[in-house]
Amino acid sequence: SAPLSIPGFESLDAALKHFFGYDRFRPGQEHVVAAALQQRDVLVIMPTGGGKSLCFQLPALLKAGITLVISPLIALMHDQVDALRNNDIPATYLNSSLDPQEVRARESEILEGGVKLVYIAPERLFHEGFLRFLDAVQQRAGISTLAVDEAHCVSEWGHDFRPEYRRLAEIRHRYPQIPVMALTATATQRVRADIQQQLQLRDPLVHVASFNRENLYYEVQPKDRQTYARLYRYIKDNDGAGIIYCLSRREVDELSQRLQQDGIRALPYHAGLSDEKRSTHQTQFIRDDVQVMVATIAFGMGINKPDVRFVIHYNLPRNLEGYYQEAGRAGRDGEPAECILYFAPKDIRTLDWLIEQKIDPQTGRPLEREQRVARQQLRQMLDYVEGTACRRTIQLSYFGEAFPGNCDRCDNCLHPKPTEDWTIEAQKFLSCVARCEQRFGMGHIIDVLRGSRNQKVKSRGHDRLSTYGIGRDRSVEEWRMLGRTLLHQGLLTETTDGYPTLQLTPQSWEVLRKQRPVRIAVPKPKPSLSPPAAPL
Ligand code: ADP
Ligand code: ZN
Repeated sequence: SAPLSIPGFESLDAALKHFFGYDRFRPGQEHVVAAALQQRDVLVIMPTGGGKSLCFQLPALLKAGITLVISPLIALMHDQVDALRNNDIPATYLNSSLDPQEVRARESEILEGGVKLVYIAPERLFHEGFLRFLDAVQQRAGISTLAVDEAHCVSEWGHDFRPEYRRLAEIRHRYPQIPVMALTATATQRVRADIQQQLQLRDPLVHVASFNRENLYYEVQPKDRQTYARLYRYIKDNDGAGIIYCLSRREVDELSQRLQQDGIRALPYHAGLSDEKRSTHQTQFIRDDVQVMVATIAFGMGINKPDVRFVIHYNLPRNLEGYYQEAGRAGRDGEPAECILYFAPKDIRTLDWLIEQKIDPQTGRPLEREQRVARQQLRQMLDYVEGTACRRTIQLSYFGEAFPGNCDRCDNCLHPKPTEDWTIEAQKFLSCVARCEQRFGMGHIIDVLRGSRNQKVKSRGHDRLSTYGIGRDRSVEEWRMLGRTLLHQGLLTETTDGYPTLQLTPQSWEVLRKQRPVRIAVPKPKPSLSPPAAPL
């Protein structure tokens, strides 16, 4: 396309250097900035740390009028505006942390055209008279672009749905001529489609950056009685800062106390602590006054600490997307960092239980659609932890990105798991599902296989089936592992409406007809957490 003419600058590079002092664009940025200058709608999908902010900040400075930036995180807003002001870029924000007088002062500054970027918290859109204020801005200073940061918040399929974001479509309708730039680090097709639809983007330029974070090492460790001791040694031997994610506030409190008692500088962070405590803990962590933050997923979004050297998940995350984001808080400075996930099968039951609690508060009925989505996400998470393929391949395929494997920076590539032939066991399992008429869940099938005398087995007459007791040689845990592997490999399915029941697939019959072998990875705890130092 024809070279852009940029008022006052020889090139986009010169404008970049002038306003931000950078010598060159990061991959994708220039392309996006050019589209924004041509008044196109744009959807930017870049991993955390990829440099999304510049994509709307530079056009904001080059276009006439004001860029409105919708951003859900008050702390982040404050940091971004401070950083811009330090670069002599006129920016301001409006959110609930300001008193009414301050809001009025800022609003008149905006109306007078004294700023180029205005960060707005989404809840502000609901404020009485706010849309009228925007009308005045449009008339007086002019609005050049609506930038929607963390745009996945419009989607129920994302990990952080915010109903206020739905209101953004109203702004699109009110000012149809103003281009919209949506930005997110969430890349699933579903969320992407939802953003386009909810924000009504018109023929947008969609820029998707690679999600591979080359400097991160990924590993999954079984969680057992030695886990705490290994974790403790790991932290001791690692002088960098780290985050440990737990599922519940109670676990956060317990683990942070235990680490403190053992002499590690650790602090807790979760939604149950006062705002004041949370903010001091966060500051202490950012300043390296403490080494470790033990936190629920309430911690981290928008926290600017580039030198986090490790992120540990002490519990199974709810979904792969969330895992990628949380683990991605490590190594934003581009230096090597490690992401370790401790997996205990009992976490599956906890998460399952949490999914069952998703009920409509009005009717008391289960929220079936949400439960279904959550179960599917849990299944994908299990594919990751129990998978034997390159961790990057599994993660990136979730984002629709093909990755060839052999990354040399994950446990599965560095120490491939041995697999065993479990075809006979799989045949036993699947024929038991068939004998039980595909109407029972995993627990019951295993009871029958292991010859349980429990009441449910007897009352159904399942103690008279030919498959009753043919699996006594394997433990419940082993059968469960096989069952999950069969589910992951598509050799079995589970209905999720109502009570989960196991059902056969066309591929199951291939196994039963001895046309298809089944191999499963045999989990063996690895001796050490640290990978061999890999040259970068
Ligand atoms: P994201 O919002 O995608 O997580 P940021 O916009 O916060 O990423 O950018 C991450 C870091 O990269 C910031 O410290 C930013 O100043 C820096 N950065 C962005 N673009 C460039 C560039 N072209 N050259 C050098 N540094 C950049
Ligand atoms: Zn790998």
